[in-house]
Amino acid sequence: MRFANVSGRACLVLDGRAVDIAEASGGALSSDPMMTADLANHAALRALAADVDPASWPALREADLGPPVPHPGKIIALALNYRTHAEEAGLAIPTEPHVMAKFPTCICGPGADVPIGDLEMVDYEVELVLAVGRRCKGVAAPDAWSHISGLTCGNDVSDRNEQFRPPVRQFSLAKSYDAFGPIGPTMITPDEVPNRDDLALGCRVDGEVRQQARTSDFIFDVSYLMAWLSRYVTLEVGDLIFTGTPGGVGDSMDPPTYLRHGQVVELEIEGIGTLRNRIVAGEG
Ligand code: ZN
Repeated sequence: MRFANVSGRACLVLDGRAVDIAEASGGALSSDPMMTADLANHAALRALAADVDPASWPALREADLGPPVPHPGKIIALALNYRTHAEEAGLAIPTEPHVMAKFPTCICGPGADVPIGDLEMVDYEVELVLAVGRRCKGVAAPDAWSHISGLTCGNDVSDRNEQFRPPVRQFSLAKSYDAFGPIGPTMITPDEVPNRDDLALGCRVDGEVRQQARTSDFIFDVSYLMAWLSRYVTLEVGDLIFTGTPGGVGDSMDPPTYLRHGQVVELEIEGIGTLRNRIVAGEG
């Protein structure tokens, strides 16, 4: 299944059309897009998808899309999960995951502007984002995927100046400014892709390719991450996990190259789609 947040309402995407879940179910299912992240609703959603005639619903319009998971309880982000990114940052390959938080208010949707004010070191990071589909603790790795309700693209937008400000380097605030967490354009269930552990992903800035990798390059794969994280924290429905970014970030370019006013960042993940956001400097 493919889900979209269309003008704040939960929709199923069928044949390029947006089927309003609450309307199509006669009010039996919620209109809140958060409901699509809850695996408890998926049997009913599959039944609905099999039952409706998409032709009678409007075409999905990119301009109407909001973030597929607009109000995550928590957002856990991997600091280093690709060798290429560890190498370009001059850091050792981790033997256990390193994580930081992104605050939930950073979430924005496809097409949203990302305001950077007068910041001069704002950077992009393409990431596969997982939506947690059921409350869990102590998940066994072989069972991990059964706890994930959705996959989407995410941009872990980062203010490198704040991220690396001495003497205490703290990543979370630098990655949590308003609109520093674009996700979308839509969210798919993991069964929508033939190989959920090997998805091509990439990032372009104004059409120029900056990042290109596959999720099979992960240092810690999705199963390992879910098991490792849930040893320590309870994962809840609608939590998001940003799984880390591959090499090619602007901070590691020679010379370092950060995002400027008017640039459009396009993130693409195989099977999910393209997430576009424009960078906007100045007051506002
Ligand atoms: Zn990141």
